[in-house]
Amino acid sequence: MALMTGEEYIDSIKKLNMQIYLLGKKINNPVGNPILAPSLNAVKMTYDLAQDVEYRSLLTAVSHLTGHVINRFTHIHQSREDLIRKVKMQRLLGQKTASCFQRCVGMDALNAVFTITFQIDQKYGTDYHTRFLRYLQNCQEQDLVVDGAMTDPKGSRHLPPDRQSNPDAYLRVTERRPDGIVVCGAKCHQTGACNSHELLVMPTISLNMNCRDYAVSFSVPVNTPGIVMIIGRQSCDTRKQEAAPMDTGTPAFGGVEALVIFDHVFVPNDRIFMNGETEFAAPLVEHFAGYHRQSYGGCKTGVGDVLIGAAALAAEQNGISASSHIRDKLVEMTHLNETMYSCGIACSCEGCRTVAGNYFPDLLLANVCKQNVTRFPFEIARLAQDIAGGLMVTAPSQKDMANPETSAYIQKYLAGTDCVSAQKRLQLLRLIENLTLGTAAVGYLTESLHGAGSPQAQRIVIEKQSGLERKKELAKDIAAIQTEKCREEDL
Ligand code: SF4
Ligand code: FE
Repeated sequence: MALMTGEEYIDSIKKLNMQIYLLGKKINNPVGNPILAPSLNAVKMTYDLAQDVEYRSLLTAVSHLTGHVINRFTHIHQSREDLIRKVKMQRLLGQKTASCFQRCVGMDALNAVFTITFQIDQKYGTDYHTRFLRYLQNCQEQDLVVDGAMTDPKGSRHLPPDRQSNPDAYLRVTERRPDGIVVCGAKCHQTGACNSHELLVMPTISLNMNCRDYAVSFSVPVNTPGIVMIIGRQSCDTRKQEAAPMDTGTPAFGGVEALVIFDHVFVPNDRIFMNGETEFAAPLVEHFAGYHRQSYGGCKTGVGDVLIGAAALAAEQNGISASSHIRDKLVEMTHLNETMYSCGIACSCEGCRTVAGNYFPDLLLANVCKQNVTRFPFEIARLAQDIAGGLMVTAPSQKDMANPETSAYIQKYLAGTDCVSAQKRLQLLRLIENLTLGTAAVGYLTESLHGAGSPQAQRIVIEKQSGLERKKELAKDIAAIQTEKCREEDL
């Protein structure tokens, strides 16, 4: 079975007995829970579209390990074309779900761990890469959702992991045994953890020699003893329990985040991919971040397409779509959205082959891509709210629409142009509300800001990659000024 259907995916999650806490209650499984169902649906789309002839070329790939057709989310990129298809696939899924479909973190983690395990083995003669290939092949053959897990709680952020008062503020090895390791710690903001099959853990920062226990990468099934997930709250999350599509905006899809705790979790040797090689923590973080910053040029533009479409429809429903200022706002939204996409495509086109044999996007352009994503969706959201008007947040509820005492008033006063009912108009405005203020805004806005690293993280890489010395030389050449370097005392 190299490709699961969407239904098979849901069934496979149903079989897992997990420890999930949601709104103060323990549940063993996310399937059937109204708050978690949209998250499963968003991931299910990655399976459904892989079965669709129209989308198969984007959603599937040929495994370089087995030659079998696999879901692209478990693929190791073999070419620049693969990198480009990845971004196009993400835009498509953003368009189809208007949410975070969660599976890219695992795809990006698989590619990063693929490269770094190869590098560690080259230096130390270890066999991490061989172990990892076995793990990867199983993920491909079983078509699993792998949740990449990077962000530690971090405690006092000015202190390194080994000097924290809470030694588990960064996930660490607490015991080394002949058959494996025991780990303690937590990973924050884990989108889709509760509807994944696997967790693939990586360190979150560069580490010095004293932090050997923190330099650890491994995988575990989500139902491994000691793993506890506490689901995070989202603005307007309990609206999903009301079964009122007019009020939820995007009733079918969404993402949820969890705090994932590793309470003395045992990891067998064949699932360990880094164990103490501190100098490889930073390259692993950089590789994962490079891939995930590329990803945002695809997924967020897909969601942007939906929001731009919603704003254009809202203008039509108000009878103002021909107004020049509305048309100009839609042009601006499109310009911003396509700029992000251009960066995602550009860093893919400029990608190159790693020593391990997979392809990696251009690091500078991937970081420029994500830096734009930390800003542009906010401006697109502002313009969408501008076009939508205040009714987006003051409209009555579906229950008021259903109540015979109030329904006629709502239909009389809140319909738009003659051809649009109040029901349709309000449902569309709730979509804009949800994408810019509700549960979906977690994925479209906050995740755009902080996912794959907050803005400053990209600026650090952009500075490192900027090639400033080379640019100074270019300026000196053109200005015909001397090129000798200043001595320290001349400065
Ligand atoms: Fe994929 Fe985007 Fe969600 Fe990251 S934020 S997992 S790239 S959809
Ligand atoms: Fe993300």
